[in-house]
Amino acid sequence: MNTELTDEQRKLSDTVREFADTVVAPAAYQYDTERRLPLDIIREMGDLGLFGLPFPVEHGGQGKDYLSLCLAVEALARVDQSIAVTLEAGVGLGIMPIVRHGTAEQRERWLPDLVTGRALAAFGLTEAEAGSDAGATRTTARHEPGPDGGSVWVIDGSKQFITNSGTPITSVVTVTAVTGQETRADGTVKKELSSILVPAGTKGFTVGPSYDKVGWHTSDTHPLTFDDVRVPAENLLGELGRGYANFLHALDEGRIAFAALATGAAQGCLEEALRYARTRNVFGRDIGSHQHIAFTLSRMAARVHQARLCYYDAASRLANDVPFKVEASIAKLVSSEAAMANARDAAQIFGGYGFLNENPVARHYRDSKVLEIGEGTTEVQLMIIARGLGLEA
Ligand SMILES: Cc1cc2nc3c(=O)[nH]c(=O)nc-3n(C[C@H](O)[C@H](O)[C@H](O)COP(=O)(O)OP(=O)(O)OC[C@H]3O[C@@H](n4cnc5c(N)ncnc54)[C@H](O)[C@@H]3O)c2cc1C
Repeated sequence: MNTELTDEQRKLSDTVREFADTVVAPAAYQYDTERRLPLDIIREMGDLGLFGLPFPVEHGGQGKDYLSLCLAVEALARVDQSIAVTLEAGVGLGIMPIVRHGTAEQRERWLPDLVTGRALAAFGLTEAEAGSDAGATRTTARHEPGPDGGSVWVIDGSKQFITNSGTPITSVVTVTAVTGQETRADGTVKKELSSILVPAGTKGFTVGPSYDKVGWHTSDTHPLTFDDVRVPAENLLGELGRGYANFLHALDEGRIAFAALATGAAQGCLEEALRYARTRNVFGRDIGSHQHIAFTLSRMAARVHQARLCYYDAASRLANDVPFKVEASIAKLVSSEAAMANARDAAQIFGGYGFLNENPVARHYRDSKVLEIGEGTTEVQLMIIARGLGLEA
């Protein structure tokens, strides 16, 4: 693995870092308090080309690699995890499945606005009874004759915790639903899952109120209900019955960008704490000159380095078309734990100021918990890694 960034990747990272410092960071506390996704900032990110980074130019994208997306997500997460996850989920869960599995008509309809950040897409997988065990999905979609001799999917059920699903610019939600049953070679019967595109505003599709979350206040998250929702048969995304396999791949890949997000959070905590340790004078000396504080900062730096190397490695495997599932899980595990640990240490270094919501490290402290839960919990990552070791787990 080559850990040196190319000039182009470095330039992108610097550009997004500057944008994060000058545009995102100054407004982060205000939006966090108001619990509102700043659409003007999303629009500026769209103008910078961030939502189109890993997509081919023919789809309106920037034609860059997946690591470039990760670098952008990391740079944003240093100062605001909510903004970073809006990009990470918007691209990895919202746009990627349409680019990868969409028909020419679906791409033509949805991509122009999505890759430019004029619209957001969401991916609805999780349900009340189906989180870690996504195969337990209960939402159903049945095929019925539709108007004018065509046919429709009729969707019934509900989803929860869906990122980017209720913003004023959300255009479409990809929903996983049971479309039938399949009998395996060994005779066992399994649910057949498929993915279906549901445009925002479709009759019977209701977006519930925002959750009162511990963190990620600026990120948009809602429960969704589907009551006799009818969409044209052409809204099937990918092959019938391939929904499960397709979303598992989307999640594997998404974990690399999610790990970049967690790395950015860990890095942001390190930068804030280091700055403070150099200037806060207690007992007649800067607190950073106390060996305990210096060593704490050393550990924080080591965690960031380890997390970054892990996601670079997983991204490099993805780019070279070699198996990356286990490495993506390791990256997600290591980086989310690094973010949590760094947020705790940074808050401690700030003393009382670390307990004020206006302090970015306090926001990281609240925000980082979900890094161990979203896109597969820590236990799910351990399960994947154990299976990679040949254990049944
Ligand atoms: C802010 C936020 C945004 C989200 N965005 C999205 C989104 O855009 N789209 C989407 O589809 N979902 C989204 N999610 C859902 C998220 O992916 C799930 O919450 C997560 O996968 C866990 O599922 P669960 O909450 O049902 O927990 P459960 O699956 O009920 O797990 C409960 C606990 O049991 C543990 N556990 C479960 N199975 C095992 C096992 N076999 N061995 C050991 N421990 C186990 C888990 O690790 C966890 O600690 C989001 C969640 C949050 C909080």
